[in-house]
Amino acid sequence: MIGEKTEKAINDQIKHELESFYVYLSMSAGFHEQNLNGMGHWMRCQAHEELAHAMKFYEHILDRGGSVTLFDLKQIHTGRQSPLQSWKTAYEHEKFITGKIKNILKISREENDYASEPLLLWFLNEQIEEEKSTDEIVRQLTMLGDSPNGILMLDRKLALRAFSSGSPLDPGDNNIVA
Ligand code: MG
Repeated sequence: MIGEKTEKAINDQIKHELESFYVYLSMSAGFHEQNLNGMGHWMRCQAHEELAHAMKFYEHILDRGGSVTLFDLKQIHTGRQSPLQSWKTAYEHEKFITGKIKNILKISREENDYASEPLLLWFLNEQIEEEKSTDEIVRQLTMLGDSPNGILMLDRKLALRAFSSGSPLDPGDNNIVA
């Protein structure tokens, strides 16, 4: 049985992961609107990952005999921003999420809920990648300044990120409407 405080913290985290989904889906639309379709694609892939993160926590609560609570979502960071500002926002958002996961780990250790630890450590490890990838793009965009050529080259590179197969966010996957 999952610890009471750990269950509450993980339910809060489901909301944070779903809000991350919203953030990246919104950023994706913003990039597509600016014809930065590589960045828009990258953000769709990221939104898919956030939904998968929310579901990992959701399954964990169910697997441990707990109760899932889905809270109202806040629309955070949904305004349209420049590419550099958007990626900075994404990086700051990931640091915020890392802090939340560290806090769940602390809570779970305080109530001896060691069965949550492998999942939480998986997430902490995942956050290293999330922070690294967004920070790298912030640094590259900072280097590029206002160079349209450079920004378009980076956009082409970001178009290469692969979707998990069967993602409902992948416009190229015809199976999703079957
Ligand atoms: Mg996440």
